[in-house]
Amino acid sequence: MCFCGKESEYNKCCGEIISGLRVANSAEELMRSRYSAFAVADGDYLMKSHHPKTRPEKDKKAIEQWARSVKWIGLSIISTNNGKKGDNSGTVEFKALYMEGGKLEQIHEKSEFVKEHNLWYYVSGEHYI
Ligand SMILES: [Zn+2]
Repeated sequence: MCFCGKESEYNKCCGEIISGLRVANSAEELMRSRYSAFAVADGDYLMKSHHPKTRPEKDKKAIEQWARSVKWIGLSIISTNNGKKGDNSGTVEFKALYMEGGKLEQIHEKSEFVKEHNLWYYVSGEHYI
């Protein structure tokens, strides 16, 4: 099983996108690959898949360290809006669960994605408490 929750193994799922073998075909696929990139603490991919205008390049190391310090439990996609093949933007609402300091924590976010030159990018997210 992939980190993102799909049946396929990582190398045939998010791993293909993270390693650059293929591009994400939808906002949801990009979202899943970014979750998996957190799970494997791949800061380079997290930067690459983040739109340049909002990319937190200077925080890359801190993000990697944090991603490595927690235990990633799972991802659930709650809803998606647009972000399909024919679209140039879309949103994905998700919950990502992780253990930090012995406590179960979650990120519940509605993320915005855009597609430019056939590549999907994460732009920003709105958090729910
Ligand atoms: Zn996956």
